[in-house]
Amino acid sequence: MGIGSSMEKVIIIGSGPAGLTAAIYAARANLQPLCIEGLIIGGIPGGQLMITTDVENYPGFPDGVEGPAMMKLFRDQALRFGTRIITQDVDRVDFSERPYKVWADGQEYQGHSIVIATGAKAKWLGLESEQALMNMGVSACATCDGFFFRDQDVCVVGGGDTAMEEALYLANLCKSVTIIHRRDEFRASKIMQKRAIEHAKINVAWNTVVEEILDVSKGEVTAVRVSDTQNGDERLIECQGVFIAIGHKPNTEVFQGMFEFDGLGYIITKPDTVETDIPGVFACGDVQDHQWRQAVTAAGTGCMAALSAERWLGHEGLN
Ligand code: NDP
Repeated sequence: MGIGSSMEKVIIIGSGPAGLTAAIYAARANLQPLCIEGLIIGGIPGGQLMITTDVENYPGFPDGVEGPAMMKLFRDQALRFGTRIITQDVDRVDFSERPYKVWADGQEYQGHSIVIATGAKAKWLGLESEQALMNMGVSACATCDGFFFRDQDVCVVGGGDTAMEEALYLANLCKSVTIIHRRDEFRASKIMQKRAIEHAKINVAWNTVVEEILDVSKGEVTAVRVSDTQNGDERLIECQGVFIAIGHKPNTEVFQGMFEFDGLGYIITKPDTVETDIPGVFACGDVQDHQWRQAVTAAGTGCMAALSAERWLGHEGLN
């Protein structure tokens, strides 16, 4: 069967742990899934784990595994059972009538059911210097890049659990960690705050915002220029690395106006399910989960999505 030449039973959008787990289950249920793997994260398919180094908490890998190596295993497993994969970003969808339609690079695909697994991506401050020094000292992933800053001074921007986690991780590697937070209290859970605040290597710059990351002309990070939100005073914090940990944004641009979204922009699924408001359209992984955001939880909901699609197709007499 050619790709895009016929009606698909299930189209999976996304190829992180959620999308590829959905593909494995759907393929083994003989649904011949079509997986459209996007390139949203770093211009490569596979999602956020493709920009992660060691994954040490995915069960079954007692010695840890590198993110890209793990995603290759997921992908190989999906292919083994007959998943067809195309590598394109989905640029438009129409879920207003059945069969549902998905477009990628000008090609239209039609499906009886859809699994949305487009994930989320890190948020950035939006400074020119931040973009200019990306991967040259600016990162959104301590576990990926912290190693490069061993025994150096680094900053972490943010006040949520991610910022605390990144700061604590970096404190084990670096000479010092300064958490830069725009308010006078953290949003993070009390236990994480306490661990960070009490850590001997971690300092906090309260009521402080980053104005610029230096030094673009040198192509490396030498300091951040920050200002005090209360009196506007500016100062430099010398450092060699800056980790931005101000939250994530779900990849939902192409689905705007189609679903109910929560206050952070994540697709709302019905309690204890992966069902969206649209029959036969399921959402799994980080695009519907702002809380756990783990590879293993994404894989779990990917499994739920494929099994739900299979049941729904059966119910509709379409499998
Ligand atoms: P959050 O949205 O919880 O926190 C984002 C932080 O970044 C806030 O402190 C916010 O400031 C700050 N921020 C946002 N935008 C900007 C900006 N433009 N400039 C400066 N600062 C900014 O995101 P997290 O990624 O930390 O956490 C997301 C979810 O994941 C939460 O539910 C969290 O509990 C969970 N999580 C749990 C973990 C665990 O339990 N181990 C680990 C990691 C995450 P302000 O507070 O002023 O809004």
